[in-house]
Amino acid sequence: MSGIGKGITTASVAKILKSKGFRATCVKIDPYLNVDAGTMNPVEHGEVFVTEDGMECDQDIGNYERFLDENILSYNYMTSGSVYLSVIEKERALGFGGKCVETVPHIPEEVIRRLLLAGKKAKADFVLVEIGGTVGEYQNLVYLEAARMLRLKNPKNVIFVLVSYLPVPKQIGEMKTKPTQYAVRSLNAAGIQPDFIIARSELLLDEPRKRKLSIFCNVGPRDIISAPDIENIYQVPVNFEKDKLGLKILAKFGIDGKKRDLADWSKVLRRALFSKKEIKIGIVGKYFNTGKFTLSDSYISVIEAIKQASWHLGLCPKILWLDAESYEKDSRKMRKELQELDGIVVPGGFGERGVEGKIKAVEFARKNNKPYFGLCYGMQLAVIEFARNVAGMRGAHTTEVNPRTKYPVIDLMQEQKAKIFAKKLGGTMRLGAYACRLLDKTIAKMAYGERTVYERHRHRYEFNSALRKVLESKGLVVSGVNPESGLVEIIELKNHPFFLGTQFHPEFKSRFLKPHPLFSAFVKAAYKVKQQNKHG
Ligand code: GLN
Repeated sequence: MSGIGKGITTASVAKILKSKGFRATCVKIDPYLNVDAGTMNPVEHGEVFVTEDGMECDQDIGNYERFLDENILSYNYMTSGSVYLSVIEKERALGFGGKCVETVPHIPEEVIRRLLLAGKKAKADFVLVEIGGTVGEYQNLVYLEAARMLRLKNPKNVIFVLVSYLPVPKQIGEMKTKPTQYAVRSLNAAGIQPDFIIARSELLLDEPRKRKLSIFCNVGPRDIISAPDIENIYQVPVNFEKDKLGLKILAKFGIDGKKRDLADWSKVLRRALFSKKEIKIGIVGKYFNTGKFTLSDSYISVIEAIKQASWHLGLCPKILWLDAESYEKDSRKMRKELQELDGIVVPGGFGERGVEGKIKAVEFARKNNKPYFGLCYGMQLAVIEFARNVAGMRGAHTTEVNPRTKYPVIDLMQEQKAKIFAKKLGGTMRLGAYACRLLDKTIAKMAYGERTVYERHRHRYEFNSALRKVLESKGLVVSGVNPESGLVEIIELKNHPFFLGTQFHPEFKSRFLKPHPLFSAFVKAAYKVKQQNKHG
């Protein structure tokens, strides 16, 4: 089922295989009919992640990148919507030569074609495929069918791993293996026998239960891997290696393991687990606890980026989730909450709700020397705050919220107008990596130490270049621009410990072994201010 850590398992196994000298890549299959994740609300589906080549996809792609420290491209993500769409488009182009087109085999064949393509594009020795959803549910049956067919054609090159949840009901206090037994039966009915079972649970799997699972599920006890809850997701590869999962997997393919090296990983992990110096960062957002998902899912890349930057600096991050909407009515609450923090982040977002609360938080950060980092919408709202309160442009706004504002400091991109008019709204934002040229002697340039960087975007609105000169004359620093279009990509302020906003989403490029330079600069500044306040 979702939420038990299939993504982390997939990423961890790939990481282990990579550490043994192989090239591994990961593919995520989402059983939704949405063609991509871009049209799904973050409170329902979690964060929308964006790949380097501009695909809006599931947050698990972000996990793969953070673990593997590699860009995962759009070939590595598919939804049922996208698969059906290509089959139907092919049919409309007479691509099936007059045959009757059917769910099976044509849908699984398209899935297999994509899996093989992903492996080829990534030049991978191993492709780890994560099938979303739950075994036995209607939506992912065609993927089990694809998996079965793939194995049939390549019996020596395909193995199956079941990630299963073993509940420990409170009233009984005992771990239950029955759901896993039934999951394996459902798999068997689909023609699949798992080679490994990853037993996710609160607790460690004990020997009696391992034996029971082994007998009922037809899997050797050595191939049942206990995966109890852990404090930090980056422990998972290390824990799997304690069970020699990497070697066991290779053995199934008849391959001997090569070098084993999780040394760099373990070093950072120790820092992550044992850093004591606390740093408090607040995320002022709105995608709260409303549906199945919580804020931590909606902003997972932001949270991971803050953590990774903090760990590398030997700090222990404490991340607080703050409700922007509540700040609109209650300034006291806002001041009280924000005063406590060492740094404030306003992440990406869409629409009107919570916007004025976020702008108030930006104003607080600017006036009170609180390190501020704005990501996408957080950058746009920082420009609005500056326009209104420093440059004297009363009522300045983004046309996303107020199309009739006198000062449209943030405005719809020219190319977007026709798309919105034609209701072409899926996958049509400014997406994926674009170049950003950095200006000398700015926070941005100092943090990156490079002249041109490539960062990922997901937006329709942008800084209105017609008002750039006026805003600059009032002290706003434009520190990064796109060299082709001249679009403003980074703004910052002088005479402030750290005040910076990016039109792009730097959080998508932060990795466990390589934190993002802007997040590092932000956290560093936050810690410095904290130390100064303590001593002064
Ligand atoms: N809503 C804004 C836009 O479309 C910002 C998008 C975002 O934060 N990802 O431009």
